[in-house]
Formats: sequence, structure tokens, C-alpha cells
Amino acid sequence: MSDTAKSAVTFDGRFAREFAELAIPWRAEDAPDPQLLVLNEPLAADLGLDPAFLRSHEGLLLLIGNAVPAEATPVAQAYAGHQFGWYAPRLGDGRALLLGEIAHADGQLRDIHLKGSGRTPFARGGDGWAVVGPMLREYLVSEAMHALGIPTTRSLAVVATGRQVQRETLLPGAVLTRVASSHLRIGSFQYARATGNVALLRRLADHAITRHYPAAAEGENPYAVLFQAVVAAQASLVARWMLVGFVHGVMNTDNMAISGETIDYGPCAFMEAFDPAAVYSSIDEGGRYAYRNQPLVAEWNLARLAESLLPLLHDDEEKAVEFAVESLGGFRRQYSAAWSAGMSAKLGLQDGSDDDVASGLVDEILALLQAGHVDYTSFFRRLGRAARGQIEPARSMFPEPSGFDGWVQRWRALDPDADAMDRVNPAYIPRNHLVEEALDAATADDLAPFERLLDAVTTPFAERPGLERYAAAAPEDFGTYRTFCGT
Ligand code: AMP
Ligand code: MG
Repeated sequence: MSDTAKSAVTFDGRFAREFAELAIPWRAEDAPDPQLLVLNEPLAADLGLDPAFLRSHEGLLLLIGNAVPAEATPVAQAYAGHQFGWYAPRLGDGRALLLGEIAHADGQLRDIHLKGSGRTPFARGGDGWAVVGPMLREYLVSEAMHALGIPTTRSLAVVATGRQVQRETLLPGAVLTRVASSHLRIGSFQYARATGNVALLRRLADHAITRHYPAAAEGENPYAVLFQAVVAAQASLVARWMLVGFVHGVMNTDNMAISGETIDYGPCAFMEAFDPAAVYSSIDEGGRYAYRNQPLVAEWNLARLAESLLPLLHDDEEKAVEFAVESLGGFRRQYSAAWSAGMSAKLGLQDGSDDDVASGLVDEILALLQAGHVDYTSFFRRLGRAARGQIEPARSMFPEPSGFDGWVQRWRALDPDADAMDRVNPAYIPRNHLVEEALDAATADDLAPFERLLDAVTTPFAERPGLERYAAAAPEDFGTYRTFCGT
């Protein structure tokens, strides 16, 4: 048996087959000289793919869509979206392709998707390419999020194409091979709704139910249950982002997945000094997607989903609207409950602690962190040591510790659980200065810093000697961090 036969992959091609209206069959551009930069071997194994095969030339060609099995139908997916509040009726995969679906070890299908595979009919003014830095960035941050236990698309590989791509300078091109529960976005439903074809909208909703919320099919109105399930998934997801200090950066409706996975890592960043107004993206001038706005934006985006689903929610439009408004009202309640529970866990407070006392302590410590420009991640990690009686590492982070001194006594009186804190407060996150350092080196052909950082952030809760610099805040001269969307 040849290597290829032994490692043959069967793509289901379900989306391509069932949604011709939303999928344009397309081919990835051939790469002049593909070289593997990083491969996610455990994920490959979960997908039934042989890592040794993927590392072979044939395997690389599969990873970038240059040699796909005969039955596969790569497609560019159509979607619409509100970008910074403005509706764009036709976005779609301008430089991406869905190769097809394959079965994961957990029994569910996963999309295998390419980013940076060349222009498609949705490319508009874009060149269709992606470059090494931003693709490794998505790989790193998505795998860090996964390790933090936060729902996210995954990254299977980044392959350098050997093509030079024009950005501000010439940069090495790359393709990211992404794995997701699906690529159904709020924007997919906006697009389907805008066609005026309610049967298509219904089929898309049925597809979402089958893939993500099968229990909804049992409901009296499955589409109502679907909407409520997406609201719940997003409330939980955004609470998780807030708890780790993650700023997505471009929460347009085309970048919000129906599955509740974090998707489309562009100008995202982890907050360092606690600042509710933190915004990193150079294009987000008004701070629409600032840290503190993320729950509000998610709710706004879900309202756009509700509008798209209206014809399915009830025959009577007034009743449909009434139902949508009521369900959307669940978002704030669910978000607040998830966030408060998460904050209590970060403080090591045991179940049964008084909620008012806990929320008072949370509000107070966040105000102190903000006033003192204290590093959010390090503070909570060091607070675990404070729970064990070693107060100074956390205390020394405050320029003026008197507020903390009063707070810490009241907090310790509640007998916080230090071990439980260490399981939810990461020691290592992809800090912006470390990410930049790793990507700069990788762009100049040195992958070692990237590999070391990936190792740290994919085991985020286990503090290890020798990794101190990965737990430390950025040096003062790192300045105000900006991320760029020109990915
Ligand atoms: P994003 O901000 O990455 O979510 O992308 C928004 C839209 O722009 C999507 O329709 C992308 O497919 C498209 N896009 C982004 N970069 C490019 C590019 N270099 N070439 C073609 N389309 C692109
Ligand atoms: Mg996008």
C-alpha cells in the first residue's frame, strides 16, 4: 500500500453538496515551494490523519489544498456581515476555502479549511494571500485558547508557500489549515436571509441544528431553541474571553460562529495591565471592539442573527419579534452568571460563598488593578500564592498597596482555595511582546522562539522553572501595542 492510500482522507463535502447557493467550487492556487512550518500532531491524530504522511510532500500538498482526494469539492463559502456596524451584503471567503468535513475522534464532523489559498470570486480588492506571521499568530493564539479551555477553532498546520507576498514590505506567504466545528457564521444566516429564500434559510438552520445543537430538533420550534442555544453559547464564550483578558479585536457578525467557537483571529490580543478600555487593533479607531464592549457587541450581533431567523421563529412577524426580544434578554443574565461564577473561581472562592460579598470583592479588586495599571494575568496567578500565605508577590504589583492590604485580609478570611485558583488562573498567555518576537524570528526563518512560546502557552496552568520570561509583563519600552488587520 502506498503512503497516500494508507493515509487517504475522505472528505464528506456535505456543505458543498447541500448548499450550492452558499458555496462556489474553487481550487487553491498551487504553491511554488511548500515547506511545513508547524504541524499539530495530536490534532492530526484526533482527525485520523497520519502525522508522518502529513509531513511528506504529498501530505503538504493536501494541507494546502494543492492535491485533494478526487471526491473532495473545495468551496469558497458565501456570507454577509456587519463590519464595524456597517452591513456588507457579500463578503464570503475571499482568500479561504472549505476543503470538506472529516470525522473527529469524538464522533463529530470538523471542517478542514484553508486560509491564504488564493483569490476567490469573493476576493474583491484582496490578493487572496496570507503571510507567515499572521498565520502563525492564529495558530499560536487558537491553540493557547484551546489549552485555556475556551471554545475555539483549532489549527492543524501552517505551511509556507514559497511565494513572496506584497504587504508593507515583501513577506513570505503561508497557508493556515484550520479545523472548526463548522464555519457557519451569523453572517451566513444574514446572507441566506437576504436571498429571500426562506427554504434555504430553513435548510441552513437545520444544518446548524444537526451539527451543533441536535437537541433543538426535539423542541416544539427547533429554530427558537437554536437561537436560544446560540445566545447561551455566545454568553458563555464571551464571559470566558473576559475572564482571561482576551480582546478579539474584530467582532464583526461574519466573525462570530454559530457553534460558539472563537473564530477568525486577526488583530486579537491579550490584555496586560487591567484596562476596561483596552483596544489593540489599529483599525478600531472608535474602540467599538474594546475589551469592555465585547459582551455588548456579542448581544448586538445576536440581534442581527435574530433578525435573520425571524421568518423561522413564527409565522406572525410580531410574535416572532416578541420571541426574539425575550430570548435575547437571556444573554445578559447568562453572561453575568457565567462571568460572576468565573470571577469567583479566579478568586478561589468556594461554592456557597455569599454572592454579594464575592461580587463586592471582585468589583473592588478590579478597580484597584485598573488604578494601579496592574498586570491582569500575573496578578491572579500570584494571588494563588497569597492564598497560601505568601502575600508579597501580589502586593508588590501595586504602586500604592494600601487598598490591596485591606482587600487581601477580607478575601483571605473567606479561605480561598489556592489549588483551585491555579487551575483557572493561567501562568502563561500569548503576551503581545513574546508573540511579536516569535513571529519576527519565524518570518526570518528561525522557528525556535515560536516553538518555545507555543510550548509555554499550550500548557498554561503548569508553572515550570526556566519559563519565567513567559510569565512576565512586557518591558516598559514595548510601548502601546497595536495589531494590524492587514493580515
Ligand atoms: P477578516 O477581517 O479576516 O474576517 O476578513 C473579512 C473579509 O475580507 C473576508 O471576506 C475575507 O475573506 C476578506 N479578505 C481578507 N483578507 C483578504 C485578502 N488578502 N484577499 C482576499 N480577501 C481577503
Ligand atoms: Mg472573517
